[in-house]
Amino acid sequence: MSSNSDRQRKNAARKAARQKKVRRQIAVLVVLVIVLIAAIAFVFQRSFPTISPKSGESAVVSAASPTETGSLADSVDVGRAEAESENADATEADSDSGTLISEISAPEKKTIELTSQMLHSGDLIVVSATHAYDFDANADSVNLVNIKDNQSYAYPVDKDELELARRALTPLDQMIKACDEALGTSVTAVSSAYRSEQYQQNVWDEDVATYGEDHARAYVAAPGYSEHHTGLAVDLGIIHSDGSYGSFSGSDNAAWIKQNCYKYGYIRRYAEDKVSITGISNEEWHFRYVGLPHAKFMYEKNYCLEEYISYLRDNTSAESPLSITTDDGSNYSVYFTAESEIDEPEGDYDISGNNIDGWIITEKVG
Ligand SMILES: [Zn+2]
Repeated sequence: MSSNSDRQRKNAARKAARQKKVRRQIAVLVVLVIVLIAAIAFVFQRSFPTISPKSGESAVVSAASPTETGSLADSVDVGRAEAESENADATEADSDSGTLISEISAPEKKTIELTSQMLHSGDLIVVSATHAYDFDANADSVNLVNIKDNQSYAYPVDKDELELARRALTPLDQMIKACDEALGTSVTAVSSAYRSEQYQQNVWDEDVATYGEDHARAYVAAPGYSEHHTGLAVDLGIIHSDGSYGSFSGSDNAAWIKQNCYKYGYIRRYAEDKVSITGISNEEWHFRYVGLPHAKFMYEKNYCLEEYISYLRDNTSAESPLSITTDDGSNYSVYFTAESEIDEPEGDYDISGNNIDGWIITEKVG
């Protein structure tokens, strides 16, 4: 009997052990299922917004504010909005979503690379005895046009072949027309404009032969160093209707243009009080196009081009530009940079090198 009851005890113990094992396995299985459900829920919650129809870029969503991230209800609303446009709540969610995107995914600022070619071209390049004109850098942009063939007002031009950069011609036409109208004359003429390097060589040689080298150094730029190479400089003269020449220096026309040229983007380039800076003697007849608003500021401050360039270099930056208002009420912001990359301005803008060590950015701001 004892062996019988022993067997029964052993069987009961084995059965109990088996049941315990099964319970343990069920418990493990339940835990595994719970973990699995939690994991699926977690993944679903995280991934759902990225497939939300309005979210667009996942980068936008991941950068969203805490009230927006993981807001499954909002996402569902947005989804419903696609299907039911008349649903008021959904429309609200839709517009919220739009606001979110415009706030967070503001387009990245475009940058502009400022090249070496740009350093040596543009309206504000300094061309002088120490800064040669770069013909190659300007070859594509100078856009020379024949003055006689393109002038919009019929003023006298000394030679049929004279050319000027197109952007400087219309303002010149307007300036000469206004001068003649103000004075009741029709004698304000162009006696020189664009000069090639070879042409300047001829001018130099002729001046040396006639007046000697000292005179040439004072009045004639060496070939490659003349502002006339830019196509932005003119010498004005007086040419009467019978073809005879008068003296521009000391004329009423010279006085009028000196006072008013800035309105047309021109400056009187070589003045008596700037000889020590420009290195060129007083030339009442020589005018240079620099464009608005620069001409206005230079006129008001009595800065020659070299002084203006220095002023911009020492006093302005992208964060702290110079503000200029022209006579017609337009506002411009102007700054110098020596960095070869800038944020693209939002308004209309122009970039000019100074032909020395940096670039001037001009933006129309109103
Ligand atoms: Zn000249």
